[in-house]
Amino acid sequence: MFLAHRIALDPNNVQATCLARAAGTARFAYNWALAEWQRQYEACKTLPSLPRPNEAALRRQFNAIKREQFPWMLEVSKNAPQMAIMQLGSAFQNFFAGRARYPTFRRKGRNDRFTLSNDQFRVDGRRIRIPKLGWVRMREALRFAGRIVSAAVSRTADRWYVSITVDAPDLHLPPAENQGVVGVDLGVTRMATLSTGEIFSGPKALGALLYRLRRLSRSLSRKVKGSRNRVKAKLKVARMHARIAHLRREGLHQLTSTLTRRFHTIGIEDLNVKGMLSNRHLARAIAGMGFGELRRQLEYKTAWQGGQVVIVDRWYPSSKTCSGCGDRLAELELAVRHWTCPGCGVLHDRDINAAINLRNMAVSSTVSACGGEGSGLADTRGETGSSEAGVQPQS
Ligand SMILES: [Zn+2]
Repeated sequence: MFLAHRIALDPNNVQATCLARAAGTARFAYNWALAEWQRQYEACKTLPSLPRPNEAALRRQFNAIKREQFPWMLEVSKNAPQMAIMQLGSAFQNFFAGRARYPTFRRKGRNDRFTLSNDQFRVDGRRIRIPKLGWVRMREALRFAGRIVSAAVSRTADRWYVSITVDAPDLHLPPAENQGVVGVDLGVTRMATLSTGEIFSGPKALGALLYRLRRLSRSLSRKVKGSRNRVKAKLKVARMHARIAHLRREGLHQLTSTLTRRFHTIGIEDLNVKGMLSNRHLARAIAGMGFGELRRQLEYKTAWQGGQVVIVDRWYPSSKTCSGCGDRLAELELAVRHWTCPGCGVLHDRDINAAINLRNMAVSSTVSACGGEGSGLADTRGETGSSEAGVQPQS
């Protein structure tokens, strides 16, 4: 299974300049290939005998002209522009498959990154060897053992990171503490509520940081365009964004580690729907990272421990159904935190009740998976580690 570890880099000044140059080269190649793709596509619309654009041909075309036309490119690893054009190829594949939007041009300052294939770099403890740069210090050692697949170097605010993807063989972690099955309701204000009644409120500092981010953004908008102060304010905002993203990632990892360590089977609601109201109903830590990331972490971590994740269909009315008698309300407004079941008279905490329903769904779907009769509502994952439990989005 593919796992990615993102590590902060400590380049010296010369190396930092080289990293920026490699990222610039990758961005240039990507944008060149995108423009060329669009040109060739238009051309074959008018003249259908022309070949349709593809990434392999674009790479050959690029290699043929770069020495003449872009000689400055030879200062950085030739792998960076190559990989960038390959990424454009996958961006188009994702677009054609309906998984992503049409590729856009990369922008300086926003897409400062480049990727190296595994034959181009070496990792040794807390350092990584990048071509034409030498050894660059890393803040921590690579967490996973296994075959190294690729490294993506990127800049967030003013700091460089490397995200190393590893194809990890079966890991032998201690099995789950085996408290059986749990349902997890992803919350409005709380990050997660478990069917056991426990509540994860998420990283505490997040609210304060988001407040400071709003103030910094407001202060930025008041600065005169082109001024020194604006540049400084912009950097402050970008740093705050990076801190918040880090905290969210930590919060999500804590939640998924705790869940997979303690429970064998985890039932959650499928919120991974295109156009899902921009996750307005999710707790800030999950909303910020996306439900896909939560699911990805749960799936690979349960696979390590031999457990499984049960994804319950999002149309299943987990909040409105009484977990005691199965009675279903017609309507339950989001603001209502507690309700009494008209069928059996039990007073429910909205989130705990939903979590218990998800737990029950997880139980029934695993039973029916063995018994052969599928409920059609849930989708079981785990054991083998699905192919989706893959690389984290490299941005
Ligand atoms: Zn009831």
